Amino acid sequence: MRALIWHVDEFSYWPVGRESEAAEEVPEGPREFADSIVALVSVEEGDGPAEAERMASEIAGVARQVGCGRVVIYPYAHLSSSLARPREAVSALEELSRRVSSEGLEVHRAPFGWTKGFRVRVKAHPLAEQLKVVEPGGARGGGEARAGGEAKEKFHRFIVIDDDGTEYEVTREDWRSSPPLNKGDRRHRMLAEFVRNELEGRPPGGSAPRHVYYMRKLELVDYAPESDVGHMKWYPNGVLVRDLILDYAYFRVARQWGAMKIQNPLVYRTDVESIRMLQGEFHERDYSLDEGLVLRFASDPGAFPFVQRTMFTYRQMPLKVYEEANCFRKEQRGELTGLMRVRWFLMTDHHAFLRDEEQARAEYRKLSLLFKQLMDDVISGEHWVLGFEFVEEYYERFRDYIRSLVAEMGVPAFVKLMREMSHYYAFKSEYQAIFPDGNNLQISTVQWDVKNGERFRIRYIAEDGSERPVPIILHASSFGSIERTLAALLEGAAWQEREGYNPVLPFWLSPEQVRVIPVRIPDHMGPASELADELEGRGFRVGLDDRDLTLSKRVRDAKSRWIPYIVVIGDEEVRGGFYSVTPREGHRIGEEPTLRMSREELLAELERKQGGMPRRPMYVPRELSLRPTFTGVS
Ligand SMILES: [Zn+2]
Repeated sequence: MRALIWHVDEFSYWPVGRESEAAEEVPEGPREFADSIVALVSVEEGDGPAEAERMASEIAGVARQVGCGRVVIYPYAHLSSSLARPREAVSALEELSRRVSSEGLEVHRAPFGWTKGFRVRVKAHPLAEQLKVVEPGGARGGGEARAGGEAKEKFHRFIVIDDDGTEYEVTREDWRSSPPLNKGDRRHRMLAEFVRNELEGRPPGGSAPRHVYYMRKLELVDYAPESDVGHMKWYPNGVLVRDLILDYAYFRVARQWGAMKIQNPLVYRTDVESIRMLQGEFHERDYSLDEGLVLRFASDPGAFPFVQRTMFTYRQMPLKVYEEANCFRKEQRGELTGLMRVRWFLMTDHHAFLRDEEQARAEYRKLSLLFKQLMDDVISGEHWVLGFEFVEEYYERFRDYIRSLVAEMGVPAFVKLMREMSHYYAFKSEYQAIFPDGNNLQISTVQWDVKNGERFRIRYIAEDGSERPVPIILHASSFGSIERTLAALLEGAAWQEREGYNPVLPFWLSPEQVRVIPVRIPDHMGPASELADELEGRGFRVGLDDRDLTLSKRVRDAKSRWIPYIVVIGDEEVRGGFYSVTPREGHRIGEEPTLRMSREELLAELERKQGGMPRRPMYVPRELSLRPTFTGVS
């Protein structure tokens, strides 16, 4: 669906004659409008209620932007060359009107199917003329089915694969009675939620997701009103968490897998044929700049030309590259929710260039197992399931391979089949985190690409010395994006909270791992700083609460910041040669014990918690008295 949207001083129209059978009756009421938003709308093939809803939020967004309360929807066939059939166009326009009016705006709709004349005076301000494009099915760059509606149109067969590899075909009507979806353990309950979201749509959204509250409360990430929507600002503690995740993504995943780290530009030329094709196929909302330039939506526009100019032979394959990729997608305003969907994000993106199917199968398996470990150990615990999208003919060929892969991973999966290839991939897997509010979010993904090797003329030297095109490329993202990973980590904390436990971040990602609180200042500052020095020297992140506040207030503050270990030092501790330590994780809310620990016991406990995970120093001052307040949310 496309709409040319004007903010007008005056607009009037007059029907001249019927154009088609489907012409609507001319409505009663005004045909002249002052100070209004006029939307000239072309309904395109494939547009349904979901597209109407998204366009409605675009139009309402413009109306709010310019502070105008009246909208005229005007059918206009000249914005597209692939128009919907008249009957479908009328029903999409009806839905669009309903949705716009449900946003609290006054709506008039000009009749469809008439030749009409109009007169217009458009206001002279920068926002007075805007073109909005809503692609059928939504932005699929992340490869994520959004609502049941899309799964219905894009996919025609659905299969549940249980964690032992057994297949169960399901339909939109009977999925609830499928045996694996009725097993009742946590993982199968998660799968049932995911299948429901895919086939019936997500539960209606109530309040904002929990992570939106946490991300500000913990002073990690926040909205940045001076930027475009969907561009977040990161506070020091957020930057720290992001850097730690990137450390893990490179050292523990990409490097271990054998990838070379590269970096490509963020801006690309749209007059390069292959870039244009890639861009079009992604169904992506371009972030366009002047002069035929566009910001990249993934690392692909850089990575493929990069490898195309790299000389390599069969001996150097699989050739693997990795990039920390800042990406930009102009998602619809109405779809931007906290960290789940943003316009600027950082992807941890891997590509492997493979010689043949056998090699590709081996790498697909390696990546699948690596990402399973990552989801289990780092991101989501038991709160995730697998999704697959398959072109049907590939499913028939890879069926046994996929079933045994699912069994090896031990995580049940939901498979959606499409008749024909609509993207560059023949199939892909998605690791879906499930949130307490019933939402799901794709984190890791692996994709089997059979098109871009040829399209970008990526070649290798074969054993007989000839040059051959690379037949298969695997795309893989370990953390999806850092933003999504952070959303999943915080929603994981929301799961803990919902089950009565203290919400926590994993110890290695906690911006401040230990807070040392001297009971009286300055009496106990000496031993407190001494401990802080020692812990810092061993690579832990320590805060020292030197503020002139009551002890209970300082302890409360440490708890509200989710500090994993609170260490109190007073007369008793100094005399007895021990510390009073309050650990947070795994305890019910308000029932954290306070333990007496020796220096050695405390150190051993912290080392055990840290395991071999990446370490970085703190990004804010150690002394609480030196720290500014960023959000004022506590
Ligand atoms: Zn890619």
